[in-house]
Amino acid sequence: SPAIRIAAARKIYGSGATTLTALDGVDLDIRPGTFVSIIGPSGCGKSTLLRLIASLEEPDDGDVEIFGVSPQAACAAKLVGFVPQSPALLPWLNVLQNVSLPHKINRGAEKRRPTAAAAVSNRPATDLTKLLHDVGLGEALHKLPSELSGGMQQRTAIVRALGLQPEVLLMDEPFSALDEFTREALQEQLLDLWDEIKTTVVFVTHSVTEAVRLSDTVVVMAPKPGRIVDVIDIDLPRP
Ligand code: ADP
Ligand code: ADP
Repeated sequence: SPAIRIAAARKIYGSGATTLTALDGVDLDIRPGTFVSIIGPSGCGKSTLLRLIASLEEPDDGDVEIFGVSPQAACAAKLVGFVPQSPALLPWLNVLQNVSLPHKINRGAEKRRPTAAAAVSNRPATDLTKLLHDVGLGEALHKLPSELSGGMQQRTAIVRALGLQPEVLLMDEPFSALDEFTREALQEQLLDLWDEIKTTVVFVTHSVTEAVRLSDTVVVMAPKPGRIVDVIDIDLPRP
């Protein structure tokens, strides 16, 4: 069964005379362990689709399921990690403290909601320090976000999202704010990391090159209204 199943999802913003159909009947099944990118022009509904999966929005019609449960249930069980467009690190915490925050919050939640949190703490503990080393942040564990480059901040946000070992990792244009060199270096590191952790990834990007380089499947969307117009499997072995 799929990791993510989206069936006939519609999303309409606004009300009365000023409605906008952001998603107009989107169907998509994503197999576990695949890296899917979503491309298309600005306004075609990429972020809306990602936010439906992340339970940040609800569809007006249709269904979204993650491993057979609602996005809300999947997020509560920490099955989903989300990397926003801007890293949103807490400025007064260093790198290690920022990536440890989800663990801390989960330990707090365990006291109040034992069953939901227990499923998460039964997973083997992530070695966050090792993960930070793997993405080239070994020297930066005790630095504050203000002391980091944009690329280092983005890598910190990705490690933070991976910390609770989510089954699904969602990323909304995580590289768009980075210069070309930083972006390519970060992509190399992430490709190595995916080969190791094999989590399901859904990744929104403006860049066709980036999509082809990173993903197993490219989902192409078109605007007005937002629809999937093509799904392309990339058979080429990754570099
Ligand atoms: P991008 O085009 O860079 O992907 P987003 O679509 O992610 O930007 O938009 C950023 C934020 O602005 C989102 O929270 C989204 O809901 C909101 N937003 C986008 N378009 C509109 C709009 N027409 N009216 C109100 N909010 C909007
Ligand atoms: P993309 O990520 O592909 O740029 P979005 O999903 O952000 O597209 O937006 C799809 C459409 O929905 C756009 O026309 C956008 O302006 C509109 N939209 C997105 N979020 C909101 C919102 N919160 N309120 C109103 N309109 C929105």
